Amino acid sequence: MSVFSGGQKMKLSIRSRILLSFLLLTTTSLSILGAYLLNFFYQNNLETTTKHLITNARIIEATLENTLYKPDKQSILQSEIEKISALTNLRITILDLSGKVLTDSWEPANTLDNHLDRKEIQAAFTHDYATSIRYSSTIAQNMLYVAVPIYNDNDIVGIARIASTLAPIEASYQQIRIIILSAILVTILLTIIVGIALSHRQIQPIKAMIATAKHIANGQLGCRIHIKTNDEFEILAHTINQLTSNLEDKINEINAEAKKSALILENMDNAVFLLDSYGNITATNASANELFQITPDLIGRHSISVLGDSLLSQTAQEVLISQHSKSISLKLKVNHTVKTFQVFFAPIIQHDNTISDILSVFHDISMLQEIYDRQIDFVTNASHELSTPLTSIRGYTETLLDGALESSDLSRKFLNIIHAESERMTRLVKDLLQLAKLDNKDYRNQIRLESVNINAIITALEAKLSIPIANKQQSLIISLPDTAVIIQANYDWIMQLMINITENAIKYTPSSGVIKIAAFQEESSAYIIIADSGVGIAPQDIPLIFDRFYRADKSRTRTAGGSGIGLSLARFIVELFGGKITVTSQLNIGSTFTISLPLKQDK
Ligand code: ADP
Repeated sequence: MSVFSGGQKMKLSIRSRILLSFLLLTTTSLSILGAYLLNFFYQNNLETTTKHLITNARIIEATLENTLYKPDKQSILQSEIEKISALTNLRITILDLSGKVLTDSWEPANTLDNHLDRKEIQAAFTHDYATSIRYSSTIAQNMLYVAVPIYNDNDIVGIARIASTLAPIEASYQQIRIIILSAILVTILLTIIVGIALSHRQIQPIKAMIATAKHIANGQLGCRIHIKTNDEFEILAHTINQLTSNLEDKINEINAEAKKSALILENMDNAVFLLDSYGNITATNASANELFQITPDLIGRHSISVLGDSLLSQTAQEVLISQHSKSISLKLKVNHTVKTFQVFFAPIIQHDNTISDILSVFHDISMLQEIYDRQIDFVTNASHELSTPLTSIRGYTETLLDGALESSDLSRKFLNIIHAESERMTRLVKDLLQLAKLDNKDYRNQIRLESVNINAIITALEAKLSIPIANKQQSLIISLPDTAVIIQANYDWIMQLMINITENAIKYTPSSGVIKIAAFQEESSAYIIIADSGVGIAPQDIPLIFDRFYRADKSRTRTAGGSGIGLSLARFIVELFGGKITVTSQLNIGSTFTISLPLKQDK
């Protein structure tokens, strides 16, 4: 008895079944054949002996027909039957019609009882002959009796009964029985031997298949069954091999897919969390671990305690109930900075339609959010900057229309203001257009790079600034090296940069102030220094002055005609050509702007 790997018990092994079938077949067929033969031999012998006895009985009947009426018949009869009995070894008994034994070849007649009740005697009165088999206690053997009537002129005058022992027939019967039983026994033994050998041959391929199938079931999908039987087993083995090969292909495919997914998941920029139905974190990817500092001991903990926000588990619950994916935006504190995430939730639905986990993918949209916020700020600021001069222009125009036009002094004054405001608007729009131009990547790529001589730029600038400098009675000191400082940039934009910085210097320096411009080169950089003796910039404003629309002192700078764009444009230009701009300043002492740009490399 062996056991299946699944724990189910086999009732009978195939070998036992084959063996039992063989045994059943051979013993049943041999037993039936033996019984038939035994019976046939016995009946045949009995029949032959009966016929033989009948013949003998008829001969005796014919012999004794006349003797029965002789006066001293008793003695004659006795001697006659003894003679025949001695010759034939048969027991001969003669009876009269009353059943009285007249004479018997084996026993004295007077010792024998009346035989009328014997079956064969009864039947002999009405038949040609009658037979009976009975056990004789006298000789302790089974006897075959044949009785025939003795006639005298067609009248029955007595009965002649011949008896023969069945011992020889029974002895041969026993002998044949022993032979048949021995034959059956030998056949059973042979059947067992042949059955074992045959079943062994039949079982061998099955055993080989079971062994290989067990290996396959244990995951060794490279195993194959190798049997050559040229029968159904070989077909079965081939089919199992094919099945295994298909399974191997499928598993390899699944593994490759799983590896691909794991690789994608691990190398994804987005943080990925798997949450169970309670909101506990069950798995994370590398980005999640890095971004949120997830250590292995945090796996299995609730998302609220790990990420500090309940919206995550709340949404996971909603997705679990609705079985539909959902996207939310979430602000989380990461490394002391608040980041905005777009979190996508999707239920992981099993093949039995239950949800095992909720997948959540974090998409960091902080940058987008910032750009969006900045855009809003920009539009608000730009509108605000434009609306201020517009309100002013409208106000003065209305005043003029309401009657001030009559006074030429007022008219001139108001028109001058309107003119100044419209110039301010023009400057602002021009600055905005330039900013928009530089914001455009396509435009930036198209900017022509050329050798720009800083000395030449500053000399040209000097000419441009002469009037405003003179207007404010300021002095301009320029210091340039003997050799030209050459950079690889764009002339117009570098000029724009210089104008923006120096106009500020003039603007934020009171009358009689000094403005110094110097240029030199050091190592691989060109340096331009613009220093003024103006109002200066407060320390808290310094980090912000390069931001768009930022003005340090709003009321004062507005009267100075500032829009807050000039420096942001300047920084944009410097960085566009790979340079840097810095500022040092002291209130009421002055400010110094330092621009460094890479020198043109000699080929
Ligand atoms: P604005 O058009 O207002 O001058 P900018 O972007 O050019 O805008 O400058 C931003 C702010 O930086 C100015 O509003 C001013 O407050 C400050 N600033 C710039 N240059 C100087 C300077 N040379 N001296 C003092 N403050 C300055």
